[in-house]
Amino acid sequence: MKVAIIGAGTAGLALAKMLIHQDIEVTLFEQAPTLDPVGAGLLLQPSGLAVLAHLGILEETQKLGAEVTGLTGQLPNQQRIVDSHYAQADSRFFGIGIHRATLCHVLTQSLANERQITWRFQHEITHLEDKGSQVIVKGHCKDQPFDEAFDATIIANGARSRLRPAQWVKLDKPYPWGAAWTIVPDCIYGDPKILHQFYDSTSMMMGVLPTGSLPSDPQKRLSSIFWSLPTGQFDTFAKAPYSAWLAKVQSRWSDLATCLDAVFKDNQPQWLNAQYRDVVMSKYGQGRIGVIGDAAHAMSPQLGQGANMALLDAWALAQSFSKARTAKDMDWHVVWQHYHELRHSSINMYQLMSRLLTPLYQSDLWWAGSLRNIMFSWMNQIPYFQKQMAFTVSGLKTGAFGQMNYDEIAKPM
Ligand SMILES: Cc1cc2nc3c(=O)[nH]c(=O)nc-3n(C[C@H](O)[C@H](O)[C@H](O)COP(=O)(O)OP(=O)(O)OC[C@H]3O[C@@H](n4cnc5c(N)ncnc54)[C@H](O)[C@@H]3O)c2cc1C
Repeated sequence: MKVAIIGAGTAGLALAKMLIHQDIEVTLFEQAPTLDPVGAGLLLQPSGLAVLAHLGILEETQKLGAEVTGLTGQLPNQQRIVDSHYAQADSRFFGIGIHRATLCHVLTQSLANERQITWRFQHEITHLEDKGSQVIVKGHCKDQPFDEAFDATIIANGARSRLRPAQWVKLDKPYPWGAAWTIVPDCIYGDPKILHQFYDSTSMMMGVLPTGSLPSDPQKRLSSIFWSLPTGQFDTFAKAPYSAWLAKVQSRWSDLATCLDAVFKDNQPQWLNAQYRDVVMSKYGQGRIGVIGDAAHAMSPQLGQGANMALLDAWALAQSFSKARTAKDMDWHVVWQHYHELRHSSINMYQLMSRLLTPLYQSDLWWAGSLRNIMFSWMNQIPYFQKQMAFTVSGLKTGAFGQMNYDEIAKPM
């Protein structure tokens, strides 16, 4: 059985490892020439860590990443409206702040000795043709067109995918707000095991996430800083003198501004631009074609679930392949039915929550910030809501009352 995976990001790399384990031959197409150390930090939740444990690479991830025990969110008057800790859901739970490049490195290393994988870097896939008994993958490599036939193809090429079948797409639009990211030396503010967030109404939001080290320099611990802003303002913001930005922070959170000033010491931060999309699909697979990761359900990063949902997708699809495989063939109907059972309710719930919560953090709505402050400080005082919030952040919820079982997912391959 030969499967093509399009995109060597979190979803594609994790799925490759799991399919190879089932004796499936994988060809991984990636448009970039190499897996460059691009991107800033992301937060791996217990859901994503369960998948890394399943893959046998949790320890390695822990070494390079930074353990995170919870997140706080404070207003300019120092009031904490968010104070959520993984232990409120389960005493064993924690998160890991990690650079996207480091996560890709750990996943790639786990594939280093596999012989059933064919790497195709610098291959941009432009078109898929479903022929019923096989899928033809078409694209370009260094301006030369090519095509190749596979038994199945999984699209894992991220939020801006143009390969997801148009007839499955219910919604695909950019968010009006994004974020500027920069990487700084570690431990610049407060408890180094906390994701610190700061909010003023809905127009100002920033965060400091401990993110561990890059594989090229494992001793140097780093943090990522993000600053929320409307997408059209990134260029002006990145070029503006850093003192103007610092003054805004200083007038609201002076202790944070002191830490930032010590880090940048008059050097302009190197900001990366992050833009987000909202993608909703009516189905994730049919016949021999499937879509996973951000390509299937891109959302705003408010709930910090992107990489975790990509990992859960890979796990669920590998489980579905295993269930549907017979000695000679694969029952594709069973694959997608099982995948749907494992992923549909969770994806729906996180997409809905992300859509409802994003305007409470990033929008021009004058009332949204006050509503958020009242709602969250009230929930913060009630143990039931504290626990539900911790479970939601953990990435394991499947609905108002249901949740996935960490230990089931984490079982070794
Ligand atoms: C360059 C980059 C930087 C990022 N930085 C951050 C960050 O700092 N913080 C954060 O939270 N999230 C970041 N993300 C998003 C984060 O990686 C994803 O939300 C999450 O990991 C889910 O991953 P995914 O595998 O679904 O998609 P992605 O991680 O987006 O991976 C998709 C892969 O597909 C490749 N690809 C795209 N189109 C094609 C094509 N036509 N043919 C072949 N290959 C293709 C891309 O080059 C990419 O390697 C970044 C994504 C990218 C691509």
